[in-house]
Amino acid sequence: LHLLARCRHLHAINSTLDTRNASINAVVHPARISPSVREPASLLYDFSVAVKDNICTSSMPTTCSSAILKDFMSPFDATVVKLLQNNGADIIGKTNCDEFGMGSENKYSVYGPVVHPHQPPNSDVPWENRERRSAGGSSGGSAAAVAAGLCRAALATDTGGSTRLPAAYCGVAGFKPSYGIISRWGVVSYADSLDCVGIVTEDVDDAGKLFGVLSAHDPKDPSAARPETRAQASAHCQYHLQQISGADDFSGLRIGIPQEYFPEEMDRSMHAPLRRILDNLMSRGATVLPVSLPSTPYALSAYYVISSAEASSNMARYDGIRYGSYAPPPLGSDKMKTANVYAHTRSQGFGPEVQKRILLGTYALSADAFDNYFLQAQRVRRLIKADFDRVFAVPNVLSSGETPEDGVHVLLHPSAIRTAPPLDEGQNADLGAYVQDVLTVPASLAGLPALSVPAGLGEDGWPVGISVVGQWGCDEMVLNVGRMVE
Ligand code: GLN
Repeated sequence: LHLLARCRHLHAINSTLDTRNASINAVVHPARISPSVREPASLLYDFSVAVKDNICTSSMPTTCSSAILKDFMSPFDATVVKLLQNNGADIIGKTNCDEFGMGSENKYSVYGPVVHPHQPPNSDVPWENRERRSAGGSSGGSAAAVAAGLCRAALATDTGGSTRLPAAYCGVAGFKPSYGIISRWGVVSYADSLDCVGIVTEDVDDAGKLFGVLSAHDPKDPSAARPETRAQASAHCQYHLQQISGADDFSGLRIGIPQEYFPEEMDRSMHAPLRRILDNLMSRGATVLPVSLPSTPYALSAYYVISSAEASSNMARYDGIRYGSYAPPPLGSDKMKTANVYAHTRSQGFGPEVQKRILLGTYALSADAFDNYFLQAQRVRRLIKADFDRVFAVPNVLSSGETPEDGVHVLLHPSAIRTAPPLDEGQNADLGAYVQDVLTVPASLAGLPALSVPAGLGEDGWPVGISVVGQWGCDEMVLNVGRMVE
């Protein structure tokens, strides 16, 4: 009986997936779910989970939404995928994304863009005629899949905001944990020093459940935080957590509002949802303080130099010989010349945005430009980290700075400068796309835990997200405050 019920349940999931997915293009490789008998006591027994297509799965393709990996089947499952399965989750498919995670609107995908699933309230415009907006990127498929109810949760990645930005646009929760806390083994690298696995769910509680399962130390991940470091951070955070929360009394909680996080590009309608949340928290006793993170204006440039530099190195492996679909050089060219094979394969296989990042990154690493670009960007990265350490009450166990007397537990700010942008935006679309990351990249450069919480609808009727950012290793604190904000 149990098996029969499960078969029906899975069949229902599959058909919903097909029809709903057709209009939003969120899932690009659906799983063929075969009913297995799982332990109802498993931690994730009730979870159907979609996985971003840059995370390796042995039973479905892993293409990173790129033509260069169009036939790639991984021989193994990423650690995060194994952890999901071992804890009873159903993996329902792989989600669309910007190619190799490079983008903010999920437009740079070989499968075409993800279409935002939301319909503004009171709109009786039929689906075919309504405004098409971006679901955000690069994990647009993961956020749209959860928002459209195709699955209860999705795995994403977040290098500079790719979990939080689409989550904010789609009105769901998006969590980027501290760098090094969730295993990257089996996650296709974009920029290793920034890449994190992200979690997208409908609410913060579910994000916490997944985080509990996924945050296990993995010796196979060379960038994983060591168990002693985790324990040390967790002890500091626990100490502060005890001061923060009673069930409905937040009188110990100190929240910082970074004044640099309201740039002129921000749409003013982002302010009201944040104000609503702050009023609510203050009415329950929380203290709200303005804080300054003075290096913030340099974060976006530093991020794009560092991420492109690392990407140019990571993309070198797709040469049509070691990895990637081989594209034969055109007639008349010397097929035996390796450079021809590389050049042709890579010109055919990579989309224009990835090619642009490879060129920018290679330039930033070249002898002539290194000092002016890459080194400067690394300096800015250090300044950004120091800015955060100067405002948090919790010490950073990865650095040795002092904590301020009047430090804050978390920072709160809008996750994005606007609601979801139209999919078919014309001019200046490229620069506009990069500016969208301005509020998410600082936490990435500093490796901090950051959670975008759905904060209702903006004036235009589209979802708005508010971000909670905490000290390194304070993931539980960030999730706890996220629950208070929700
Ligand atoms: N939009 C940013 C970029 O293109 C962030 C992407 C990400 O976090 N994967 O680099």
